[in-house]
Order: sequence, then structure tokens, then C-alpha cells
Amino acid sequence: MSAIDVLREHFGPRLLVEAERRAPYETPERGAPGHAEAVLLPDSEAEVERALKLANEHRLHFVLSSGRTGLVESQRPEGEVVLSLEKLRGFLAFTLADGRECRFERSESPDAVRNRLFAWWSDLGKPELADSTVTIEAGLAVDTLNEILAPLGRMFPMEMGSTASASLGACVANASAGANAVCYGTAAHMATAAWGFWGDGSATGPQAASSWVRPATDQLAIDSTRLPPAWGLVGSQGVFGVITRVQLRTQPIPATREGALLAVASMPEAMRVFSLARETFGSNIEEFEFLSRSAVELVLRRKGGDVRLPFEHTPDAPYLVLMQVKSDLPDEDLAQKLYAFCSETAGVPDEAIGYAPLPALKKIRHSVTEASNLEMRALGGGRLSFDTATPVSVFGDYLAQLAGELRAARPDVQLVDFGHAGVGGAHLHLIGGQGAPVAPDAARLTKIVFDVTQAFGGTFSAEHGVGPKWATEFLQRTPRARLDELAARKRRHDPLNVLSPRSFGFDRLLAG
Ligand SMILES: Cc1cc2nc3c(=O)[nH]c(=O)nc-3n(C[C@H](O)[C@H](O)[C@H](O)COP(=O)(O)OP(=O)(O)OC[C@H]3O[C@@H](n4cnc5c(N)ncnc54)[C@H](O)[C@@H]3O)c2cc1C
Repeated sequence: MSAIDVLREHFGPRLLVEAERRAPYETPERGAPGHAEAVLLPDSEAEVERALKLANEHRLHFVLSSGRTGLVESQRPEGEVVLSLEKLRGFLAFTLADGRECRFERSESPDAVRNRLFAWWSDLGKPELADSTVTIEAGLAVDTLNEILAPLGRMFPMEMGSTASASLGACVANASAGANAVCYGTAAHMATAAWGFWGDGSATGPQAASSWVRPATDQLAIDSTRLPPAWGLVGSQGVFGVITRVQLRTQPIPATREGALLAVASMPEAMRVFSLARETFGSNIEEFEFLSRSAVELVLRRKGGDVRLPFEHTPDAPYLVLMQVKSDLPDEDLAQKLYAFCSETAGVPDEAIGYAPLPALKKIRHSVTEASNLEMRALGGGRLSFDTATPVSVFGDYLAQLAGELRAARPDVQLVDFGHAGVGGAHLHLIGGQGAPVAPDAARLTKIVFDVTQAFGGTFSAEHGVGPKWATEFLQRTPRARLDELAARKRRHDPLNVLSPRSFGFDRLLAG
């Protein structure tokens, strides 16, 4: 009996082998489609355990998939079986800081959970919710959790363009960051416990990351090339084990939020504003995002019908920064406080301060990726995309040097840079032109990005992970001692390299 027949015997209709049913799982968010031998949809933690044990017995390899929004091709199969966690999406419990708990059947719908949870809390007399947690299955999507929590005035603060589908288990496994990491840390930091199975099928948990401490400006705030050993499954990107259940700390939905778009003369100038803002607003800076001039022009060119810059005259500035602040005090005049800060404390001239309702400002920032997609399709020259970070203290100099070197190498390529300035994170899109594709120069341009990032003490993967996409570069650029340590952990927890076998280059690392 073949290994696939064994899976079919155990999982029946939850093993998909037909080409048209496999197809959606073979297509990654970005990159070329792959090929899956089959797709397995376990419906409980026990079934995940059984799948892993069978894979070890029958020498099968799995790639993990959940919301399928990952950007480093980890979920893209190349002959492996896809192990999808999409059926593990139960909301299991809401727990107050004093231990009182409301439990749910994993089959209850999000609507039913939301209503019953609110009724339970109301019946208790609406007690204090500080330090409350939720326990959920790994495949539950971020937005679904937030819809359940909203009536309680609580949230899981993960702001990414992918939260409608991205699963919470993946966010914890990938230490996903998002626009508000400057305030709350990564999803790994917001998880108080994770449970699951190592690649060899043995159960593990609870495990947790250390709590989020705002790093000093000369340190890297986010770096998804690191897999801290003490965190266990958390942050380990599915290479040692599968997270099946997590407990997450909830946060209050702020009573009020305000934002401003500031035109700044340079990135060091933006960082000066950021540092002053930290003195004024402390941990109430929820986001500090940047868009380069090329990103703004791209948005206006491709999405101009949907967005409007909040300035009388479009400022002639190399960068715009979007600063979002919050307050838990309903009566605080946050708009006035923000204006006084921008104008008096930071000394930004009035014509460089753009005010508009926060959703309109955020729409500008969130339109960059779609505008870049439209541009790439229209020009047909392809795109290289990177997700880097450096310490905040050198972020401005880093972007300037990178732009200079890329321009010298390929003046015809558009560099669109934007991202999370508050944690030193940059998304870089290099878009080829008509008749001037980027692909022939991919290796050279990638080397420039990686070399400059390394020279500034940065990381080539800030928050998206390593996956197979950056496996070669990871093996080339990681010190031998760290590679040996990772290989030892892989041999301990997943000796047959059942899980995510090509991520981080483990197939080559173990063979070597
Ligand atoms: C438009 C868009 C915007 C994005 N913005 C951001 C952003 O701002 N910040 C950011 O960090 N990311 C961002 N992402 C990337 C992505 O949403 C995150 O990486 C997210 O964690 C992926 O969740 P998923 O459920 O879709 O995972 P999938 O794509 O299904 O899986 C990807 C990989 O994650 C690992 N994984 C998934 N589930 C588990 C599990 N339960 N246990 C162990 N490993 C697991 C596996 O290696 C798997 O192959 C964005 C993606 C898109 C498409």
C-alpha cells in the first residue's frame, strides 16, 4: 500500500487528491505554482498528531498551510503533501485574569460564540477585562477573532493587509509583525501559550516567547531569520513542529485614535520626529509607517481615483510618514494633542501636516501593495520584493545608501519603499519596466539588497520569514555555528525532516 493510500485509509474524504481540489493549495500568494501529491485536512488536534506519526512511519513530507497568505513560499508544495490547518478554527475559551472562564464547543459558529460570550460577560456584571486571554485553534483567522471580541471592547491587535485570511496559529508561528508592532510587538509576543506537535509527532506545550520589550534604537526590533530556542514552536515558522492551539492576550480597543500624515525632508528627520513622539505619547504610538516619494507617486498613478493626499499642494518631500496615536481616555482631546505635537514639539510646518479621518490616511498606506501589483502587471517587467529591517538609528542612512546602489546598478528599475519605520522595517519592491525585466538581474540586485542590509546591521527578513524563498541566501549568510545549532534542533524534533523540508534549506543542511 502506498503512503498516500495509508493516508486515505485514515482520513477518507479529508484527503484531497483530485487536481482541481489540490490546485488552490498549490498556488502561493506570490511566486510560481507548485505541485502537491495530496492535500490533507485534519479536523482535530488528534488528527494532526496521527498525520505526523503516519508521515514519520511512511516517509512523507508535509508543507503547512492555513490562510495561505504567507509571502516566502513556505506553503507552496514541491511534491510534498499539504497539511492544511483550515479546519482547526474553533474558539475554545475566554478567560478573565481572575481565572473565571467561558468555554465553547469547537463546532460553535463565530456568531454563536460572539453572542454567548457577550451574554456571559454581561451576566457577570461586565467585570474588568485587563489581562484576559482567549484560547483558540490555530486555523482561526485574525479578523474572525476580532469580530468575536469587538462587543467586549477587546481586540487582538494584528494589523496586516492579510488579516481576513491569515490564521492566528501562523501569525504566532511566524512572529508576524504588521503595522502596529511598534506598539504591541509581534504575534509571538502576544501569545501567552502555544501547544502542538513536533515534527516527529510528539505532543508539546505550553510554550511562549518572551514579552515584548521596546528595543533600544541601535538594536534590531524584528528579525525573522532568528528562531529563539527558548520559544519552542513559537516563532519557529513550522520547521520544527505544528502549532495547533494558542492562548492570546487581548488588548483594549482604544477609546480614541488619531493620525497625521507628515511630509519630511529625510528619513533621519522622520526618525527625529519619531523619537520626540516617543517622549510625548510613549506606548500610545500605535503606528509609525513610511512611504517613499516613489510609493506615493505609484499610489496616485494607479489608485488615484480611490485616495487623496490630505495636503493643499502635494509636498515635494522624499518621504511621508503616517503616525497613528491612541488613547484609552474617552474625553482626551487627542486630535488637539497630536496637532500640538506635530506643530510645536516636532516643528513640522503646517503645510507639511496632512490631516484627514484616520481610515482615509490608512487607505493611502494600504494601497501601496495593490498599486505595485497593478504597475507590475501593466509594465510586464516583473518585480523583486524584499522585507528587510535595520536598527531604527541607522534606518534613514540605510535607505539612502540602498537607493543609491540600486540606482547605480539598474537606473531603469523603480524602487518602491514603504513600511514600518517605527521598528526599522522596509518593504522594497523593485519593479521592472516595459522591455526591461528585472529577472535577468535578480541575483545581482538581490546581492546588493542583502549586502547593504548586512552592512547596516540589518536582517534580510524582518517579519515574513525565510521559507524556501530565501533558503539559499540564509545558508550562505548565516554563521556555521548557528546553522549547526538549527540542524541539531531539527534532528531532535523532526529527525526525518517531515515538516517544511525545504524551508531555511534544511534539506541541504541535513544532507551536508
Ligand atoms: C497583503 C498581505 C499583507 C501582509 N502583511 C504582512 C505584514 O504586515 N506583516 C507580516 O508579518 N506578514 C504579512 N503578510 C504575510 C502573512 O499574512 C503572514 O506571514 C501570516 O502569518 C501567514 O498566515 P497564513 O495563515 O496565511 O499562513 P500560510 O500562508 O497558510 O502558511 C505559511 C507558513 O506559515 C507556517 N505556519 C502556518 N500555520 C502554522 C502553524 N499552525 N504552525 C506552525 N507553522 C505554521 C508554515 O511554515 C506555513 O507554510 C502579508 C501577506 C499578504 C498577502
